[in-house]
Amino acid sequence: MVIERKTDDTEWSPPNLVDYETVHHGFVWPTPEETFGRRADAPGCFNIAYEAADRHVAAGEGDRIALRSLASESPATTLTYARLAEDSARFANALADLGVVPGDRVFTLLGRMPALYIAALGILKRGAVFSPLFSAFGPEPIKARMQIAEAKALVTTARFFERKVKPVLADLPSLRTVVLVGGGDGGVDFDVALAGQPTTCRIAPTRADDLAIIHFTSGTTGRPKGAMHVHGAAVAHKLTAAYALDLKPDDIFWCTADPGWVTGTSYGIIAPLLIGCTIVSDEEEFDAQRWYGNLERERVTVWYTAPTAVRMLMKAGDDLPQRYDLSRLRLIASVGEPLNPQAVIWGRDVLKRPIHDNWWQTETGGIMISNFLSMPIRPGSMGRPVPGIEAAVTKREASGAVSFVEMPDEQGELALKAGWPSMFIGYLNEEERYRKCFVDSWYLTGDLVRRDADGYYWFVGRADDVIKSAGHLIGPFEVESALLEHPAVAEAGVIGIPDPVAMEVVKAFVALRSGHTPDETLRKDLLAHARKRLGPAVAPRYIEFCHSLPKTRSGKVMRRLLKARELGLPEGDTSTLEVEK
Ligand code: AMP
Repeated sequence: MVIERKTDDTEWSPPNLVDYETVHHGFVWPTPEETFGRRADAPGCFNIAYEAADRHVAAGEGDRIALRSLASESPATTLTYARLAEDSARFANALADLGVVPGDRVFTLLGRMPALYIAALGILKRGAVFSPLFSAFGPEPIKARMQIAEAKALVTTARFFERKVKPVLADLPSLRTVVLVGGGDGGVDFDVALAGQPTTCRIAPTRADDLAIIHFTSGTTGRPKGAMHVHGAAVAHKLTAAYALDLKPDDIFWCTADPGWVTGTSYGIIAPLLIGCTIVSDEEEFDAQRWYGNLERERVTVWYTAPTAVRMLMKAGDDLPQRYDLSRLRLIASVGEPLNPQAVIWGRDVLKRPIHDNWWQTETGGIMISNFLSMPIRPGSMGRPVPGIEAAVTKREASGAVSFVEMPDEQGELALKAGWPSMFIGYLNEEERYRKCFVDSWYLTGDLVRRDADGYYWFVGRADDVIKSAGHLIGPFEVESALLEHPAVAEAGVIGIPDPVAMEVVKAFVALRSGHTPDETLRKDLLAHARKRLGPAVAPRYIEFCHSLPKTRSGKVMRRLLKARELGLPEGDTSTLEVEK
């Protein structure tokens, strides 16, 4: 099935990408200077925050609205580009006064509130490295990430600080500065820090290849990985937003992703500001009526959301959106997990616009594969590679080499030719893990896909054991480690099991130490322990007690086997299985 979009509608201007074939064929990534223009104030320098705010002010666009921040308890806050440029400069000055120097890692643990946008740009203006944390994380994931990056400063709220950071503060010796939005005990008040600071600052003379952002992601094994991104990634942020999301300066853009994940930064903060449009953000969590109300009241034109949210809207009923005027909405896009074909069709029939799926991941820094506005949508497909991206379906040979799958519809691992501007430049302090992602200048994504005869890519599954729950990537190792800290737990194996809304939820199999009884009380205690340590978004939803876990002869829990047994699937190759006791 194919859904055509009518992009020649006179109501809307033509899409940024009209002729996909021609643009993709001849595409060469422009330099930062070619993309954004020269920095008259600092030739040769390139800083994301300058491009996101100050450039618009210098071009006389300072009065345009950069941000409309919504919250249920207070009226919406509106920030112009001029105000964003000034406040972020003040925050950069405040950071300097607090002893933050260029290159320091500064974390945020904040919801979608105006301070987040000011802090992100202020950190970058200071030349420090911005690292956002997911606000639903519990103390353990926060500690692990801040330890790996040797965090020097943290911007958060008193509530998060008290509940999530204080319990692990003693384990964060590098953390020197805490800034609290809204004030409170244990840190410097954000407003006080800004007050009295000059509204301009000397923006750090960063270059395009200087480190700007660290996004943490999870693998199958080991600690979380800090994917490093440079200032020059902004070239890809801007162009992918222009092509895949069709963003233009007049757009009102709402990205629903949490700022603690890469989408919430690349497209929740950076890309729309680079384009110069208006960001709508909402501090509140999902609520179908609220969301439709936001779309109507804010006159959102481009909306970037996730399959879990779409499925929740579908559950809320087809009548509900009919009560709202969504006529301004011209593009709905989705990312993060497979988007069911039914959801794309539901969008077309009920919201009157199909949903455009796209694919990318933390490491790629920006959208890589997309259903473009000017191309027919194939419901269930992630679309085609963005201009500047060469994608391939590959097989890993036993020798370590990769071969290319040329036959349409044959499954293999998605690989991308290295070299696009937002490609991660490493995993922090993990050279070997980074190196292993590349073979012959191809980046291997860890996702299994197939490509049809017309070049559309279709997601098949992950090649590894990581779990995607409500769009959030969860490393099973991190969950197992937290469970193993409980005195009753001898072994833990964690998998994702299907869920109709969140796609997957976390299930843990636990073998107990002798002397502990596998009863309801202990199950509840373990669930509570995991929620407290990991936060509700990461903790297991289900725990099953078992006598022992299937392991390889080298002692690794065979999650693949746990999953096959759980789902009643063939067990596959069990030759490395240790004899189960
Ligand atoms: P993250 O690094 O947390 O953004 O997660 C990236 C992973 O999410 C990818 O490697 C995929 O497994 C999954 N993913 C992202 N977008 C899509 C999509 N459109 N369809 C299916 N899976 C997706």
